[in-house]
Amino acid sequence: MQKITITKPDDWHVHLRDDFILEGVVKDSLKNFSRILVMPNLVNPIKNTQDAINYKTRIINAIKKLKIHNYFEPLMSIYLTDNTSEKDIELAFRSGVIFGVKLYPFRSTTNSFDGVTDLFGKCSLVLYKMEELGIPLLIHGEVFNKTVDIFDRELIFIENIAIPLKEKFPKLKIVLEHISTKDAVEYVKSAKDPIAATITPQHLFYNRNIIFNHGLNPHFYCLPILKREKHRLALIEAATINNTKFFIGTDSAPHSKENKENESGCAGCYSACYAVEMYATIFDRVGCIDKLEQFISFNGPNFYGLPYNSTKINLIKQSHIIPKKLNRNIEIVPLGAGELLDWKLVE
Ligand SMILES: [Zn+2]
Repeated sequence: MQKITITKPDDWHVHLRDDFILEGVVKDSLKNFSRILVMPNLVNPIKNTQDAINYKTRIINAIKKLKIHNYFEPLMSIYLTDNTSEKDIELAFRSGVIFGVKLYPFRSTTNSFDGVTDLFGKCSLVLYKMEELGIPLLIHGEVFNKTVDIFDRELIFIENIAIPLKEKFPKLKIVLEHISTKDAVEYVKSAKDPIAATITPQHLFYNRNIIFNHGLNPHFYCLPILKREKHRLALIEAATINNTKFFIGTDSAPHSKENKENESGCAGCYSACYAVEMYATIFDRVGCIDKLEQFISFNGPNFYGLPYNSTKINLIKQSHIIPKKLNRNIEIVPLGAGELLDWKLVE
């Protein structure tokens, strides 16, 4: 197959940041995606419905400056804290603006110092309310504990938090975000609905060797960190078997080159600009290009109870190289910089 036309996909997990980089980053996402679900972990996190409405306005203003017409309004999320109130969850539900509440365990990733310290103790009432209203809990599924190996954080989270959470709140809609292990794949497959998982391009493309290939490569440092090859293969299998529980979520997260190549380098990979081409490339390399549309365009809307997009995108089989750097008012090294992609998005 040399050309495919598929339903325009959505990105169910993206970081846009704020201020002067917003415009360039939003432009990359809207080139690839129709709907985007925006994560709330700004430097000043989006902790309630009003914060989310204000942030959404800033994003729409950035889109307007780009003179893009007929865009989908961004889908917003709020950041769960120990102090989130049931009242705000009600407000979030009624606003029509909020599509998920994000759980960052305390200190688990970028800007997570406001994260939850005691999910079952401090957030139970809020979780009951979310379960009742059908608001999804979007989970960064890692424990942060000095005694837990960084490569085991996801597995320990599943054992200690995800399984009891599912038992206590069986009707709560859960998305395990950016899963990175075979263990997470198996858990999500076996757990009773409603549960789903997003998978990033970096976790499909790379195993952990790439971080240490000919020296330390900070541009492949993300959280959850890349894992062994067997985990990558399990993720590819999950993405390509038409299992409706697995869908796209790029976790595209812009950081400046300077902040990545730093003595305390940031976690996160920027993929918004080439994400669809990356997914197409990996699906094709494993002989499953025919499964791409289900994963990037249908499974997400099915989970969130939204219609499929009516617009289409075209991809042709044509090699091209991911640029070494991008200018988005900051210099960004994109995921896979300098590498070959096999598929290209065309008009
Ligand atoms: Zn993320």
